[in-house]
Amino acid sequence: RQGTCVALLFLDLDRFKDINDSLGHATGDRILRMAAQRLQQAAGPSHTVARIGGDEFTVVLEDLAHAGDADACAQRVIDAFDTPMLIDDRQEIVITPSIGISLYPDHAQVPTDLLKHADTAMYQAKAAGRHTYMRYTDSMDSNSRQRAGLVASLRRAIERNELRLAYQPQLSLGDGRIRCVEALLRWNSAEHGEVTPAQFIPLAEESGMIVAIGEWVLREACNTLADWQRTGLADMSIAVNVSATQLLHSDLPRTVERILRETGVAPEQLELELTESVLMARADLAVERLQFFRRIGVSIAVDDFGTGYSSLAYLRRLPITTLKIDKAFIDDLGRPGDSEDAAITTTVIAMARSLGLNVVAEGVETTAQLDFLRRHRCDVIQGYWLSPPLQARQCLDFVRDWPGHAGPASPALEASADHAVP
Ligand code: C2E
Ligand code: MG
Ligand code: MG
Repeated sequence: RQGTCVALLFLDLDRFKDINDSLGHATGDRILRMAAQRLQQAAGPSHTVARIGGDEFTVVLEDLAHAGDADACAQRVIDAFDTPMLIDDRQEIVITPSIGISLYPDHAQVPTDLLKHADTAMYQAKAAGRHTYMRYTDSMDSNSRQRAGLVASLRRAIERNELRLAYQPQLSLGDGRIRCVEALLRWNSAEHGEVTPAQFIPLAEESGMIVAIGEWVLREACNTLADWQRTGLADMSIAVNVSATQLLHSDLPRTVERILRETGVAPEQLELELTESVLMARADLAVERLQFFRRIGVSIAVDDFGTGYSSLAYLRRLPITTLKIDKAFIDDLGRPGDSEDAAITTTVIAMARSLGLNVVAEGVETTAQLDFLRRHRCDVIQGYWLSPPLQARQCLDFVRDWPGHAGPASPALEASADHAVP
């Protein structure tokens, strides 16, 4: 009647579960209380703040003259979380929110629909990299319909033979040999065309399909390696990505044993890659499961290292063999001026060495990056500088043609600018 509008902000704390799992529920509760206070302060006394469950909060903004006022409030909330929270006299933590906004009367007429739309917008904010806000738009709804369509197609991807593996070689800098390739999943869907792992792996995890898909990946990777061995390529290992659900909620040890037996691949030739957040989230269970793999001789890599909330104390307890430094830290290496990333990378390399771990740099694209990593004694590199992920057949040719693949170590690599394959 007054021509004003109402906005609903739907807020979710980013990676709160990781914090809860690593710092404990008592600390988690204190962080929630501090978050609530910050939220109330940022929203101001004339608006309504509620906690609707877990780490989800809503703010109702009434009598707004412009929709833009809601954006301003969301930004105030985000800024309010930038100051670290003191969790005790020794520890500080920064926790960021993602916020979705829906408006009455523009987006919906009733509270339930407003909530639903704000929630959808919040998910888009997460998908856009978290620590941001998004206003709901109609196209978001079609996004969530598209997700449902992808899930339905993914259910049939294995039986329709739509999944493939690509293989990306890794180079040992010490002697210039290729000893390992990483298997990366590809999905060419009849309905949706080429879908990237970043799009479909999360869906496969949420829906539980990752267990069946992951088993397919393991079998296919080991079969490929066995094929290569039959053509005379000995001493090659394969790295396979494993998701949280596979490690924690399926009988992964039994599956791995069975597939190794079926394909005749030796356990020493298999490496499982797990992301940092997976290992930290359920550290005790993870340690127990990983110990089994170490006992039978399978290697364990921590993937995307540096992007999560690793505790060094946990890291030491984990029976791992390899650290893979995330591409995000590699990108800036070798550029003029000293960067924080260079400091982080050299520190991680030094730490890995002192813990007796193998260290792999991911996403190496330039000779400058390679030179930096070589100077700082990184063990292995992977990335477009060496090769993009290849089809099995091409990857086999690449490895065979690689200088020094069967003979003595390659001198050609000392001059790193030239890595052309004969
Ligand atoms: P990841 O395991 O960290 O794999 C590395 C990703 O970086 C791959 O993306 C690879 O193609 C890409 N990459 C490698 N070198 C370069 C480079 O020099 N520059 C750039 N820009 N990118 C490079 P991809 O294949 O899209 O896979 C993305 C993620 O999806 C993987 O990250 C992994 O976490 C996940 N994933 C892939 N296959 C599987 C799988 O079979 N199972 C599970 N659970 N996750 C998988
Ligand atoms: Mg990986
Ligand atoms: Mg990675």
